Amino acid sequence: MRVEFLGTGTSQGIPIIGSTHPVCFSKDPRDTRLRVSVLVSWDDYTYAIDCGPDFRYQMLRSGCTKLDGILFTHEHSDHTAGLDDIRPFCHRQGKLPIYLDTHVLAALQRRFDYIFTTENRYPGAPEVTVNIIEKNTNFSIGDTVVVPINVMHGTLPIFGFRIKDFVYITDASHVDAEEIDKIKNTKVLVINALRDTPHPMHFSLSEALEFIDDDELVEVTPNFLRMRKKHLNENERKRASKA
Ligand SMILES: [Zn+2]
Repeated sequence: MRVEFLGTGTSQGIPIIGSTHPVCFSKDPRDTRLRVSVLVSWDDYTYAIDCGPDFRYQMLRSGCTKLDGILFTHEHSDHTAGLDDIRPFCHRQGKLPIYLDTHVLAALQRRFDYIFTTENRYPGAPEVTVNIIEKNTNFSIGDTVVVPINVMHGTLPIFGFRIKDFVYITDASHVDAEEIDKIKNTKVLVINALRDTPHPMHFSLSEALEFIDDDELVEVTPNFLRMRKKHLNENERKRASKA
């Protein structure tokens, strides 16, 4: 399996338009961050998780020539606003499968009515095949099982996903203990950490570290943690989580 991080930035991206924060003037390429998305490939499949406003550039930059579908974690614009730019894939491949729950579908139908309408369709409009994700119900992509993980994003229930030994959780502020079984024994866990200080909708760095370091969650604690380019060993991680 190959995972490409298409974007790891905040909802506005980094740098932020007009910002005078030093990070927004940083020359470090790691401080240029597009909106959050990953491209996951295995066998002959390539799927994107989320499709934000940087989707077009992300696809060009990754050299992605074939996309088999998009899994949506939730409806926020930084995860969905690029949906119009699936057109080149539709023109070459036909209808693009999308995987989402009914709540996210309703939001996309409001925002992208021309994609979902069946009458007087605009020629060349994106075409999708809708696959509804049911809570606590695994689904298949080919012979690969995808496990939706229930995650809270503030008061909004959203999905994380497990595909084989890759778990991707973005925009979480809380993960119920019952979900841990779905994450156990994964080789890779991606989890969001917005900033040092608390935020009502997202894990802070210390909350994300606590999540993976919680004794009850010991089965999900990875052997090492990669933060940007830095590897923290177990002791460093504990120290960081207490800071
Ligand atoms: Zn969000």
